[in-house]
Amino acid sequence: MAEIKLSESRDLTRIERIGAHSHIRGLGLDSALEARVVSEGMVGQTKARKAAGIILQMIKQGKIAGRAILLAGQPGTGKTAIAMGMAKSLGEETPFAMMAGSELFSLEMSKTEALKQAFRKAIGVRIKEETEIIEGEVVEIQIDRPAVTGVASKTGKLTLKSTDMETVYDLGAKMIEALGKQKIQSGDVIAIDKASGKITKLGRSFARSRDYDAMGPQTKFVQCPEGELQKRKEIVHCVTLHEIDVINSRTQGFLALFTGDTGEIRAEVREQIDTKVAEWREEGKAEIVPGVLFIDEVHMLDIECFSFLNRALENDMAPILVVATNRGITTIRGTNYKSPHGIPIDLLDRLLIISTEPYTKEEIRKILDIRSQEEDVEMSEDAKVLLTRIGVEASLRYAIHLITAAALACQKRKGKIVEIEDISRVYQLFLDVKRSSQYLTEYQSQYMF
Ligand code: ATP
Repeated sequence: MAEIKLSESRDLTRIERIGAHSHIRGLGLDSALEARVVSEGMVGQTKARKAAGIILQMIKQGKIAGRAILLAGQPGTGKTAIAMGMAKSLGEETPFAMMAGSELFSLEMSKTEALKQAFRKAIGVRIKEETEIIEGEVVEIQIDRPAVTGVASKTGKLTLKSTDMETVYDLGAKMIEALGKQKIQSGDVIAIDKASGKITKLGRSFARSRDYDAMGPQTKFVQCPEGELQKRKEIVHCVTLHEIDVINSRTQGFLALFTGDTGEIRAEVREQIDTKVAEWREEGKAEIVPGVLFIDEVHMLDIECFSFLNRALENDMAPILVVATNRGITTIRGTNYKSPHGIPIDLLDRLLIISTEPYTKEEIRKILDIRSQEEDVEMSEDAKVLLTRIGVEASLRYAIHLITAAALACQKRKGKIVEIEDISRVYQLFLDVKRSSQYLTEYQSQYMF
């Protein structure tokens, strides 16, 4: 692998998740990192959100390497929502990778390979590349007023920018070419007639004040900055280590990034990429941007995975690991030992634990309101009251699911807004966990064992 490929991944943007957490737009904190009661789609859970905000601050200041965060709490108390909120607050350039513990046990690749890929999806590389510029081409010029810069493209557009305006002169490709042929040099002054667009090279020795006046107010003067003309333009790519791995893996190729079917990546490929990235870092061409890796259902990992995590966190490029579980004291998978959250003590020791608490009725109501809005579902007050009660007695997640189903039921009866009858109809159609287990106990004998 002589050259590490990067370009194919340029247009890859993160897939915007629509679905369960699409209403979450951030952690909903104010500038003092206090949680607003309802903000950015987030409701309640103020202590946990504040703690998450403090951790984000530490991440931004680079103070939290080698650590991990555990979000612990009952099902449906917003652990995933908080992790999504963290990702949203970190902004576009910080990679955020998300996986569930159970996903590791696929037949396609080994557990540690899947974890390795997840880690590398959460490590970003900002690479600065310089573009080739043909000698003499007008690329960056600067008007004599230092606040204004100009960029001319080969297609003939000359864009002049200042803090308060942007003017595009369409000079025509020919003219730009002609300028290029004149071999404009750094420091040269060129004049552009604003009306006709006529462009004249005036050279370096252009005696400023007198000659400027002679050319009239129609004329703009542009001076090519000293030593700038040969300068190459900088382009910044942001990719993840995983994307670089996949693109450079001969067996897969970059299309695998879209299908997700990346298979195992050979150790040599990763080694070469790590060496190359280290070189770029030394030369100042690249920077590492540690992101966030979120592993939900962390109790599903086994002892081998935990020991992998312990080691991986030691790496100086490690992302921030955020794990979540709704389990209490339980067996560590792959052993006969029990421990809090099913996580071995040595890993627990590295974790900052944030716990989430069950919601009050008012909070459930607010979350359901936000979700209905997000799904464009209008609901009568009575229906909302009933749905909130279901949220309290069954579960928040179940009540959220009923929103879409009730909207369909309403559509079917050609209703305009969701009413109590729609909610009770879908409540009867779809069982929540409590009713489902009650049903199972009653009719146990009729099921297969
Ligand atoms: P589990 O342990 O079952 O994985 P969880 O704690 O990860 O549950 P979530 O999936 O985050 O729970 O929450 C269930 C639903 O409620 C999601 O749609 C989530 O976006 C929403 N939700 C949870 N908490 C909040 C909150 N504080 N504000 C707004 N929406 C929330």
